[in-house]
Amino acid sequence: KKITIAIDGFSSTGKSTVAKRLAKELGYVYVDTGAMYRAVTLYMMRKIFVSEDNIDEEAIIRHLPFINLHFEFNEDLGYGEMYLNNENVEKEIRYLEVSQQVSKVSAIPQVRKKLVEQQQEMGENKGVVMDGRDIGTVVFPDAELKIFMTASTETRAQRRYDELKDRGDDINFEDVLKNVKDRDYMDSTREDSPLIKADDAIEFDNSNLGLEEQFEKILKIAKD
Ligand code: C5P
Repeated sequence: KKITIAIDGFSSTGKSTVAKRLAKELGYVYVDTGAMYRAVTLYMMRKIFVSEDNIDEEAIIRHLPFINLHFEFNEDLGYGEMYLNNENVEKEIRYLEVSQQVSKVSAIPQVRKKLVEQQQEMGENKGVVMDGRDIGTVVFPDAELKIFMTASTETRAQRRYDELKDRGDDINFEDVLKNVKDRDYMDSTREDSPLIKADDAIEFDNSNLGLEEQFEKILKIAKD
């Protein structure tokens, strides 16, 4: 019987790595909800409704209806890539510039409402692994399996830094570390759907547990 798997936690805890592997192993659909918030943010940055020192909430809300998001499965990658109004933005949404603005945009209730509705539709037939910040608390409070992932700030910043360096981004560690801390703070203190562990979520701290070990444990629970 197919179930819903919700994976939440702070940024760069390895959520997506674990979620993608679980989806592949179980033949489930993987949904990266962070990519959706990032795509909305990218759209708003291009319109200059959000920048380093400015956020025009009204304009953002007005433009939400013009945003169409979908994932398109990429055989080689083994997961769905993010499309913003039919443009593949999978690479662009991971730039540090987008990471620096995304928590501001994702704190707007109207943005969350739009994306949560779409996420609920994507998961309505079960057989889905969804990762984000509010999946076990808001999107699928009845998910059969909820995982909450944590790791030390330094571990997470290092993982993020390595990922971005590997793909050739011109960044420095201090900026990445600051971004991880800023987002942790904003995501867990916002009024609408702050990042918190669902009461019934199983917590994994991968500062001391390898991702491989962690994956095996979660897979075992999922199959039971
Ligand atoms: O998961 P990722 O780090 O790509 O998410 C980027 C940002 O999107 C988070 O820092 C958070 O502000 C927002 N987000 C959210 N709710 C989700 C997923 C992501 O608010 N379910």
